[in-house]
Amino acid sequence: PSLSRQNRPIRSQSSNHQPQDDGFVLEDVPHLTDFLPNLPSYPNPLQQSQAYAVVKKTFVSPADAVAQKVVVQDDGPRGVHFRRAGPREKVYFKSEEVRACIVTCGGLCPGINTVIREIVCGLSYMYGVEDILGIEGGYRGFYSKNTLKLTPKVVNDIHKRGGTFLCTSRGGHDTNKIVDNIQDRGINQVYIIGGDGTQKGAALIYEEVEKRGLQVAVAGVPKTIDNDIAVIDKSFGFDTAVEEAQRAINAAHVEVESVENGIGIVKLMGRFSGFIALYATLASRDVDCCLIPESPFYLEGQGGLFEFIEQRLKENGHIVIVVAEGAGQEYVAQQIHAAGEKDASGNKLLLDVGIWLTQKIKDHFTKGQQMAVNMKYIDPTYMIRAVPSNASDNIYCTLLAHSAVHGAMAGYSGFTVGPVNSRHAYIPISRVTETQNTVKLTDRMWARLLASTNQPSFLERNELQSRVDLINSNLENTST
Ligand code: ATP
Ligand code: MG
Repeated sequence: PSLSRQNRPIRSQSSNHQPQDDGFVLEDVPHLTDFLPNLPSYPNPLQQSQAYAVVKKTFVSPADAVAQKVVVQDDGPRGVHFRRAGPREKVYFKSEEVRACIVTCGGLCPGINTVIREIVCGLSYMYGVEDILGIEGGYRGFYSKNTLKLTPKVVNDIHKRGGTFLCTSRGGHDTNKIVDNIQDRGINQVYIIGGDGTQKGAALIYEEVEKRGLQVAVAGVPKTIDNDIAVIDKSFGFDTAVEEAQRAINAAHVEVESVENGIGIVKLMGRFSGFIALYATLASRDVDCCLIPESPFYLEGQGGLFEFIEQRLKENGHIVIVVAEGAGQEYVAQQIHAAGEKDASGNKLLLDVGIWLTQKIKDHFTKGQQMAVNMKYIDPTYMIRAVPSNASDNIYCTLLAHSAVHGAMAGYSGFTVGPVNSRHAYIPISRVTETQNTVKLTDRMWARLLASTNQPSFLERNELQSRVDLINSNLENTST
């Protein structure tokens, strides 16, 4: 069975399949021997490695698993397990026969260069692999560009820079052409760094590789600055983004404090989930109000945003509002009548809620209330994406890269890596692409934010959700 045909590929060929006696379900990742049963294995060269010489237990047992959730229930499975990441005693590639490649796709995120660097250095220093290619310009680079030879020397300094050393693109995923190219170049390990779209593409590449019976390990490293990847604890670059957002919030605060009735608006990333806005707000303490996609808000009337702004201006003389880019889209779309545009990968383009909100607030106070206000709109999104990763993200990226390298060397394929309950694990690709993490308004974190800012919850009006639903259905009707 292949990845896309199964909702959640639970491999039963493996020795410890699910559900186990203790009621846990193991969501295993594919292994090359699933379709190449006679593939020879070799002792892991780490056995001779100085780095691992004094490590108590050099290798992770293939039976080790990481528990995602431990839920005690009367019947049925009690939770989900994933394979624990790390070096295995047996590897399925001879180091001198490995020809690896790395590709980066989708938008920028702090830390991509660190992941590239550490895959190269990990392969080279831990496994003695010398043949590593960089595919330039995203998926289409497989068939439209020359490759770049990657060595530890070439990538030595790249983690100090933002962006991606290999360049990136959207669109251009042609599974057959990509796998033809993998075959033609004799590539047998493919490392794919990118977001949800990229990981879906990686699953298709794995399927095609399996169909053709190729000894090619496909490893994904999930990337999203929004921290909206399901299953894993946190995505790389998120900490850096929250930290960098502080600078924009601080700038807004300085601006609005220096004028009369200053209203600062800072737009942060978060297309479908408001994690960056939420964490940046909690970290800063200069933010009066945080608007995220998960929490619909309204402007006018009791408990609305205008009322809150007026109150804060009277109390403090200024206000700072953080808005996630995906917040309030239902209003903006209605206003601008331009919904439905898509990018090269087919993602819906968002309309700029920051500009819309700035205009709405200005109109309300200057025209409606006859009150002079000083609007300051800051959109730091590209500046945040472009910075190099901070210390904690650099360490995190190193672990992700090493996990991917150990997994591919151990013959796993069609997997992605990430920490689950703070232990690094191998996760089936479909598991991280089928859903997105969002801020749960019913969880404590959102309550903590409301307690910290003392902003309206926008929950007073029961008819709010139905209004939003109505707007959305009207939009759908007009666009079809
Ligand atoms: P982000 O959204 O964080 O910027 P992403 O990986 O989701 O990252 P996209 O532009 O959506 O960014 O996709 C990146 C690459 O993956 C593109 O080359 C695109 O062609 C390919 N891709 C996107 N969706 C799919 C899909 N469903 N199947 C195959 N390939 C896909
Ligand atoms: Mg995406």
